[in-house]
Amino acid sequence: MSDLTSKEQEILEREYQEIVEAYRKFRPQGNFDLIDRAYRFACEAHSGVRRKSGEPYIYHPVAVARIVVEEIGLGATSIASSFLHDVVEDTDYTVEYVETHFGSRVANIVLGLTKLSGGVFDHDPESMQSENFRRLLLTMSEDIRVVLVKMADRLHNMRTLEHMPSRKQYKIAAETLYLYAPLAHRLGLFKIKTELENLGFCYEHPQYYKELTEKIKVKTKESTVLLERFCDTVRQRLEPLGITYTIDYREKTPYSVWRKMERRNIPLDQIYDLLAVRIIFELNEEVLKDLKKDEAIVAAERAMCWQIFASLSSVYAPRHGRMRNFLSTPKTNGYEALHQTYLLEGGQAMEVQIRSVRMNEIAEKGCAAHWKYKTDSSDDSELEKWLTTLRELLDTPESNAIEFVDDFKMNVHEHEIFVLTPKGQIKTLPKGCTVLDFAFDIHTDLGMHCLGAKVGHKMVGVNHVIKSGDQVEVLTSPKVQAKQEWMDFVVTGRAKSKLRFVFREYRKEQEQKGEDLLQHYLDKNKLKLTSELLNKLLIHYNLSDKGELLLKLGKGELLTDNFSQIINRKLSNKLVSYWRVRLERYTSSKKKGDGRRAGEIEQESVGEYVSANCCKPLPGDDVVGFDEGGVMYIHKRGCNQLISLAARHGDRVFDATWTKHKMKSFLAVLDMTGEDRMGLVTEVTKIITEEYSVNMSAIHFDSNNGIFKGSLHVYVSDVEYLNRLIGKIMQVYGVREVRRV
Ligand code: MN
Repeated sequence: MSDLTSKEQEILEREYQEIVEAYRKFRPQGNFDLIDRAYRFACEAHSGVRRKSGEPYIYHPVAVARIVVEEIGLGATSIASSFLHDVVEDTDYTVEYVETHFGSRVANIVLGLTKLSGGVFDHDPESMQSENFRRLLLTMSEDIRVVLVKMADRLHNMRTLEHMPSRKQYKIAAETLYLYAPLAHRLGLFKIKTELENLGFCYEHPQYYKELTEKIKVKTKESTVLLERFCDTVRQRLEPLGITYTIDYREKTPYSVWRKMERRNIPLDQIYDLLAVRIIFELNEEVLKDLKKDEAIVAAERAMCWQIFASLSSVYAPRHGRMRNFLSTPKTNGYEALHQTYLLEGGQAMEVQIRSVRMNEIAEKGCAAHWKYKTDSSDDSELEKWLTTLRELLDTPESNAIEFVDDFKMNVHEHEIFVLTPKGQIKTLPKGCTVLDFAFDIHTDLGMHCLGAKVGHKMVGVNHVIKSGDQVEVLTSPKVQAKQEWMDFVVTGRAKSKLRFVFREYRKEQEQKGEDLLQHYLDKNKLKLTSELLNKLLIHYNLSDKGELLLKLGKGELLTDNFSQIINRKLSNKLVSYWRVRLERYTSSKKKGDGRRAGEIEQESVGEYVSANCCKPLPGDDVVGFDEGGVMYIHKRGCNQLISLAARHGDRVFDATWTKHKMKSFLAVLDMTGEDRMGLVTEVTKIITEEYSVNMSAIHFDSNNGIFKGSLHVYVSDVEYLNRLIGKIMQVYGVREVRRV
């Protein structure tokens, strides 16, 4: 360790002692020897190497070990593995060496971590992404500790991300938000999840992050008085009950506020629950003495949650429909608590979470804490069940990288419901799932030939949405075959991947057939498939890519007979229909004696309006306009958001109807380039589809070595619209250049 200064040496030793102490607290008789040997060895192995920040490299494994013990609550094997996690990757020592000196358990974890080193999405070809991601999940289902240490590793790398070059920062941050944060959530590591999300957000959208942090600070300051008064009341209520408790409150993080604003399309001013309060209580010694068994303690804690809930509800008005009972149905990751939003003085809302010390630890450290409290470890826990599902998902040979990650994330994010089989077995499924999802969950064959189901005593169709607590009997018929429309309403990853497999096979056949037909046509007419030729066909048939063209040809929906005519045609201006909105404003006339009645209906046609994010109306829907500071938002008539807005600001609601206007338009071709990242194409297409003054006729995207090239064909009525569109596309993160060809 000759390269360290004495100051650095001192810091290192102190860090190490803290790790040992944290471990001693919950395992006084633990394996201190293993930890010590691993630490000394890691110091030796990494000596002479420094990180980009200039710090000694060994600081990193030590910091990871500290997270592992303090924030996840893992034991000696994991701590030792954390010290050693980069040794095989970065030094000349082999896994065999680690195995001889530290045993096979540590060696296996180190091996798993070495395999996972580098970013999951670092390698470019899609298959590699998929492979790495699969590997991550596979290792996870073998020894969950690999992934837990990996989480700690990622967390420390995120905490020290400022030392990375900025192009890497963005990539690592995106990967963290996309993959690691949801995974942390699924593993029940809520505290880590929150930190990962915020750090990720901070590097992905530095500007928003800064703005929001400032604004939240100001807003929460305003609520401090309110909060203090609330704490006083809680004290007055709970002390007579003889409850030992702490009140913990935290501001909502910039990331969660941002998500909420995005999701509900509302400004910061309309987010009322910027503060969440936790009441964390402990059962007193006497009660505990009488309760020896685990179940009795858990039951007593739950009863206490309700008691606290009841006494708070006698002071504050609970907001209707905002209670979350995770006591009778804990989340799949083991989370238990009682949440309720209360209305405080002045109409301010505040979320209160009621938990015991044990529940709180599970909430923050997740499964690791869960195991600590479970004396009977043979119990097949919820996590174990989830890992089994994961293994099954991995066993389906077809899934491609992006779809697989999507399906996986889907399973991570959805809230669960409980469904009963005819024999009374309980199945956990995501909220919003249909009869078909349930059928696939039981068996692939049941799904493939599903006719419907009996729910209670009623017959329902395959797309019937199941509610929690339903008893469902699946009905099948050998005559039923999987249909394309099924994809529109299945929600579980399992059903989707099974269906996709069937359809992909079918699609492949049809595309091949289409390819043959196209080739035959080209040969016959002595033509080559140039991009100009292809574009003309795509624009004419309003298709998005070559694959779609081949598919339609293969299915016989298109014939090559018309091709020559289309190919020889010149591109020119054409009449394009645009959707507009006609508003009926009810104006109260103030002039007297001019013969007009007070209150008159004026009609005007509006070309510029915003389609509201909450209900996303499309032309043809029954709609209503809502004026927000001069901007006309169009909502569906039954939209909940609109109803609550209308209740407060009835005067800003207008009757609206869709009208069509035909206008002469010209074709513009836009070329664009930029850095490729997930979701970019979706963002660009979203902009175009939301601009009803623009008609898109074709879009192509190509990605190569992290750079994407795109081409858009749009019909616009004038240059102003075109420039506005270009401006909007330029604002998409990652887009470097948009050029009119
Ligand atoms: Mn590392």
